[in-house]
Amino acid sequence: MGVAWKEIRSRSRLASVASILAIGVLGGLLAGTEASAQETEWATTELADGVFQFSYGAYNTLFVVTTDGVVAFDPISDDAARILAQEIRAAAPGFPLLAIVYSHHHADHASGAGVLRAIFGGRTLIIGHENALQPLLEAANPSVPPPDLTFSGRLSLKPGGREVRLVYLGPSHTASMIVGLVPDARIAFAVDFVANDRVGYRDLGSHQFREFFRALEALDALEFDRIAFGHGPVGDRDAVKRQIAYYGDLRDAVQRALDAGWSEDEAAERISLDEYASWGGYEEWFALNVRGLYRWMASER
Ligand SMILES: [Zn+2]
Repeated sequence: MGVAWKEIRSRSRLASVASILAIGVLGGLLAGTEASAQETEWATTELADGVFQFSYGAYNTLFVVTTDGVVAFDPISDDAARILAQEIRAAAPGFPLLAIVYSHHHADHASGAGVLRAIFGGRTLIIGHENALQPLLEAANPSVPPPDLTFSGRLSLKPGGREVRLVYLGPSHTASMIVGLVPDARIAFAVDFVANDRVGYRDLGSHQFREFFRALEALDALEFDRIAFGHGPVGDRDAVKRQIAYYGDLRDAVQRALDAGWSEDEAAERISLDEYASWGGYEEWFALNVRGLYRWMASER
């Protein structure tokens, strides 16, 4: 069951109505129906004025309320999308859902966009990086419709004059990964290639490592004070610096293992980074992180 807590202030003059997704060019969209919920734990937290984190099980997403309507990131799943729709409606009654933004093309975050869009009347624009298009066309998954609008480097949505900036930092966890920024709230949103004091997921299977390290640095160069993640708690900007330190230390440790002639199994068994032992996922995934990085670095030698 849900533990929804939020503080919704009155948005007096914002009676809703015609939506303007000012991407410079695009126009936009309306409202619709509703469906029911189920058992996964969920919560909605207002991180800053009109910037909400919606958590569903182990997943987080973000939605941003503007005077012209709402921009939402990953709907997470069909079931999550039904609750997310209720939460968007509670936060912004009568407002249209202008856009759904995919952080990347993986279905465990992007699913539910079909459901969410239908609930809001079917005209919500779905936005993703251009590298998300082909995999989603191939997947032909009705729960993850391909984006209607793609971009390559950066896209600024300015509904009601409030900017939601989408930034591509190059490949990282996937080649389709983008980061969201709400500049007026100094909040960022990043998924799967970075988190708050957590090691990477399993063996970092989809990571494109060389670019991944660059993407971490590029993320650290963006302007924000707090950052919400696809998994785990919100962090301050030092959370990103700690991730950079972790992956740097991991890379150095694997390099030493390679220099010493250790096999992958030996590296996975012997390497430990005690200063990160308290991090989320360390017990389950640290040795797998070693393996993933070992395979890449070994192949690069
Ligand atoms: Zn992913």
